[in-house]
Amino acid sequence: MTRAAKATIDLDAIRHNYRLAKRLAPAARALAVVKADAYGHGAVEVAQALAPEADGFGVACLEEAILLRDSGIKNRLVLLEGFFEPAELAPIAQLELDIVIHSLHQVAQFLAAPLARPLRVWLKLDSGMHRVGLDPSDLRSAFAQLKASDRAAELLLMTHFAQSDEDGCRRTAEQLALFQATCRGLPAPWSLANSPTLLAWPQAHGDWTRPGMMLYGADPLETPNAESRQLQSAMELSSELIAIRDLPAGEPIGYGARFRCQRPTRVGVVAMGYGDGYPRHARDGTPVLVNGQRCPLAGRVSMDMLTVDLTDLTNVNIGDPVCLWGPHLPVAEVARWCDSIPYQLVTTLTPRVKRHYRNR
Ligand SMILES: *Cc1c(COP(=O)(O)O)cnc(C)c1O
Repeated sequence: MTRAAKATIDLDAIRHNYRLAKRLAPAARALAVVKADAYGHGAVEVAQALAPEADGFGVACLEEAILLRDSGIKNRLVLLEGFFEPAELAPIAQLELDIVIHSLHQVAQFLAAPLARPLRVWLKLDSGMHRVGLDPSDLRSAFAQLKASDRAAELLLMTHFAQSDEDGCRRTAEQLALFQATCRGLPAPWSLANSPTLLAWPQAHGDWTRPGMMLYGADPLETPNAESRQLQSAMELSSELIAIRDLPAGEPIGYGARFRCQRPTRVGVVAMGYGDGYPRHARDGTPVLVNGQRCPLAGRVSMDMLTVDLTDLTNVNIGDPVCLWGPHLPVAEVARWCDSIPYQLVTTLTPRVKRHYRNR
């Protein structure tokens, strides 16, 4: 028996979630965000699955874009952090990529560099997240400079929300109002919404949405709503039970003896650990499915194994299937037990976990 740890990716679920993104913002186009290897789901496979219907794809850097172009992706491709140095502009032009420009520094570099053809430019406003983006006081002059330069084949305006996953957070309304006040009247489409904004802030959809996490079916909202409940989980992380032990009350399990048996305890050992990307800081009690039945994690996660308490389950045997997250165990729920978010859990799976694809 080979080690069973694997991630099964359902490409139909990703298609369903992309279509949901389009349905929720019917007047907008949707940029499918596939950065960080499509949040651990495989950028090439996901982009190929969505290519016939996606309005475009978003990636974080030139290397990610090259990978997609090399695998035959011809859709519009946006570099969400723009270029990191002017030397990248030559391959960017050659591959016909869109760029984000998020600072006056980049505006100056873009206007000064040699450029083989005009590029589509997404000009980013900092409406309050204070990570990247132009200050409101600089936006209109930057827009005018780019417009006058003939280097922008198309100009778009974008911003990013910091707290749109939080229920009715006032900050999102404030960011939206600042964006609208700053950009009103400029002749350009707007791009505002990441997944939580798309799911929970219909007044902030704009002309181009940018769904990432929701494509993969994890609920990004603090509190699920009617829209997010329609998402379908695209990844199942699974493995098998490799050992079953019966321990008396009082015995500890695993490194550091973090868990101590309160009763005679049947312990299951699962071939999955932090060497696979399962979070080491998962707390005792984190849910795991063995044979489809819920049981709690018991003891510290080690590199190649983790342990669960099987005492309350019936009919469990070595070799039985174990699900760490998937359609019947939301990764967002597991993430809460790990003081983390689904984004981090899925993007930090390691190459040791083989990806299998359904519905290619
Ligand atoms: C990553 C990213 C997104 C996608 O965010 P999700 O919350 O995963 O939907 C959207 N816009 C930008 C600029 C991003 O960098």
